Amino acid sequence: MHKNNKFCFASDNYAGVCPEAWEAMIEANEGFARSYGDDEWTDRASDAIRETFETDCQVFFVFNGTAANSLALAALCHSYHSILVHETAHVETDECGAPEFFSNGTKVLLLHGANGKIDPQEIERLVRKRTDIHYPKPKVVSITQATELGTVYSLGEVQAIGEAARAYDLRLHMDGARFANAVASIGCKPREITWQAGVDTLCLGGAKNGMAMGEAVVFFNKELAHEFDYRCKQAGQLASKMRFLAAPWVGMLGKSTLGQGVWLQRARHANEMAKLLEEHMRSIPQAKILFPRQANSLFLELPPAAVESLRARGWVFYSFIGQGGCRFMCSWDTQTEQVEALVADLREVV
Ligand SMILES: *Cc1c(COP(=O)(O)O)cnc(C)c1O
Repeated sequence: MHKNNKFCFASDNYAGVCPEAWEAMIEANEGFARSYGDDEWTDRASDAIRETFETDCQVFFVFNGTAANSLALAALCHSYHSILVHETAHVETDECGAPEFFSNGTKVLLLHGANGKIDPQEIERLVRKRTDIHYPKPKVVSITQATELGTVYSLGEVQAIGEAARAYDLRLHMDGARFANAVASIGCKPREITWQAGVDTLCLGGAKNGMAMGEAVVFFNKELAHEFDYRCKQAGQLASKMRFLAAPWVGMLGKSTLGQGVWLQRARHANEMAKLLEEHMRSIPQAKILFPRQANSLFLELPPAAVESLRARGWVFYSFIGQGGCRFMCSWDTQTEQVEALVADLREVV
């Protein structure tokens, strides 16, 4: 069992680095290499992403998700535009205004929809609400896959949003901090749920999938990547030793011993741990499941005294995400025993 075992449900960024990402870093740590992305590892990682998505996309590696989202969104609009997001979107609630900052003030407008997902009709409602010059012109829709509430947009749902966006000449951005968990959950091809469904730009998450750090900004519409390298540099997101930001992707997107993509295998494990937790929780009447569990997190409403007792026993979990409730997040490294230990403790305290 690990040290700090009871941290394991706090977030998937509480987990360490998975072996495949770590080994790729070690392999990349061989002698000298060109800097700022002119190296072999950056080429290999970009090619691996192109192979994964089965298209000739343009790829940039940045340090974290806030930068990926903010810079990608800034590249999709002008300052007088607006970006349409779900009210619980990370872009709105957890990036300290970075999307507005990096886009020089583009306004983020909030949409509603059940279970953390945008309802496509909301896009139409907002676009039609005002068409005069006094209102910030809608230009981008941003969706999160998997969502902040642990749900997943189905293929049909992404396609419907893609169609609504196209109908109103809006660009479609996907915050894929947990894209691997979503793909593992749906079982579709990465291309089907991105560019083939109308996604222009994807922020592909690495850290929560098992890397030390790093997210990839993937432009399926290459015209939108115009001068994006300058945007990254100016924002302090151009790594000089880029090979170490790139190499883990080669490890993650490679095949595992089971013949599957490592990234999906790691994500599938996290999803399965959350599913196991859900199954146990269904037999505890005091634990109310708040949203459909479709990826690697489970949101519960628990009696306040039980929450306090769990925390007193050392369990760490968030209760400020989304629309409240206790969030239990699983990662590539969550173990069955940890799930069982949490469930046993909860049974004792309710
Ligand atoms: C974690 C996360 C990010 C990235 O956050 P950083 O801390 O900036 O890396 C982006 N979007 C979502 C939905 C996330 O959960």
